[in-house]
Amino acid sequence: MKTAEIRRRFLEHFERAGHTVVPSAPLLFDDPNLLFVNAGMVPFKPYFLQQETPPFDRATSVQKCVRTLDIEEVGKTTRHGTFFQMNGNFSFGDYFKAGAIEHAWGLITGDVSAGGLGIAADDIWVTVLDGDDEARGLWREIAGLPDERIQARGLLDNYWHMGVPGPGGPCSEIYVDRGAAYGPDGGPVVDEDRFLEIWNLVFMQEEITNVSAKDVFDVVGPLPSQNIDTGMGLERVAYLLQGKENLYEIDEVYPVIERASELTGRRYGAEPGDDVRFRVVADHVRSGLMLMGDGVTPGNEARGYVLRRLLRRAVRSMRLLGFEDPALPQLLPVSKDLMRQSYPELEADFARIEQVAYAEEDAFRQTLGKGTQIFDLAAQETKAAGGSVLGGDRAFQLHDTYGFPIDLTLEMAQEQGLEVDADGFRALMAEQRARAKADAKAKKGVHADTGAYRAAFDRFGPTDWQAYTTLS
Ligand code: ATP
Ligand code: MG
Ligand code: MG
Ligand code: MG
Repeated sequence: MKTAEIRRRFLEHFERAGHTVVPSAPLLFDDPNLLFVNAGMVPFKPYFLQQETPPFDRATSVQKCVRTLDIEEVGKTTRHGTFFQMNGNFSFGDYFKAGAIEHAWGLITGDVSAGGLGIAADDIWVTVLDGDDEARGLWREIAGLPDERIQARGLLDNYWHMGVPGPGGPCSEIYVDRGAAYGPDGGPVVDEDRFLEIWNLVFMQEEITNVSAKDVFDVVGPLPSQNIDTGMGLERVAYLLQGKENLYEIDEVYPVIERASELTGRRYGAEPGDDVRFRVVADHVRSGLMLMGDGVTPGNEARGYVLRRLLRRAVRSMRLLGFEDPALPQLLPVSKDLMRQSYPELEADFARIEQVAYAEEDAFRQTLGKGTQIFDLAAQETKAAGGSVLGGDRAFQLHDTYGFPIDLTLEMAQEQGLEVDADGFRALMAEQRARAKADAKAKKGVHADTGAYRAAFDRFGPTDWQAYTTLS
């Protein structure tokens, strides 16, 4: 089943059940706590917080999401993309636990000929919050699930909140058993690779406060209404239903891997290290495309830096696969042709997107050309001296003179089995900032205050607000 078909079935299923179909919000959402939209509920937040009255009781959407926190997972797990699409259904004071479970169960196990997804009921496991006997009972009644396939977990995994005082509630997650070939028995509590998480149902029922950790907060009391917020990973369902091994092999992503394979002359599936790079290329090219489509441009701060990092990682992965010519002009159009079915605006805007992307690759190629020689020399010298830690001064020189972002140096060092003296690097960065500040003062710099954000950024790197990404 094609990804677009799954998306259509999802929306139609909920439309039939009285939900208003709401288009995806852009990835850039006006929320000071958030770099990018990273869950389907984000655009509905004012309704859950009851800051605004929703124009409907029930809604459904397929929301574009970017989770930069998952960047290190890409290509290594089977299930994490930096960009992905979250299918969701939402109830604002309308149906609650029973309705959410009924709708979800009906869609995933429903007959394919009747608009369902046709997943075998016997392969489905769920989790509930420890002590949520109501949800457990409903799964038993509505879905006929045996007790051993309803597993309980604590607040850390099965309570959802926004990381700040506001709405929250227990959640229940749906997993599909991919089979004994993928890991040990025992359900998601034992193995989350064999048992693939596809859907999170959040029972938003109370107001919480004094949040100091994911699992440490106080409950103020029940919300005036009980709400439902769910998120299903479209790509995850696609890879299951397409019989693929991971989400980089689905119809909307895989042709980019194929193109990369043609260009590099290396075969996907031949060598595990290469395979991770192929997946990183396909994932990052797509995320870059979607971010640029929503107006992000590469830069050194916050959102622009995330985009820069994604594009540069894609380009560098192609280099590591042996392809040294400009890569994005070969790959970006492939991704655009796959994504334009669901996002036709990409086509109309593609001339602009291409310009942005290819200029970034050109700039990076210049940086890489010079910096790589310096890096290699430094790595050689470090090893020759019997060391395993690249000096902070070398990392600083690469940053300062050759424009190497620190995470590139870290990544390249790791590939050589080296560490980097991060403390030394930071100390030199701090010295440089102090000098710049003194300079600015001497010049009675009118722009002195712009350095504050820059300083925080240098120290901590790009931030990602975590609360939304920890729905599970
Ligand atoms: P995981 O535990 O696998 O990292 P999660 O618990 O962080 O997932 P949720 O926050 O519950 O995910 O998000 C709801 C749904 O969105 C998940 O059940 C999953 O299907 C999907 N999803 C989450 N993160 C990703 C990702 N990086 N790539 C693709 N799909 C994702
Ligand atoms: Mg996660
Ligand atoms: Mg989850
Ligand atoms: Mg999870």
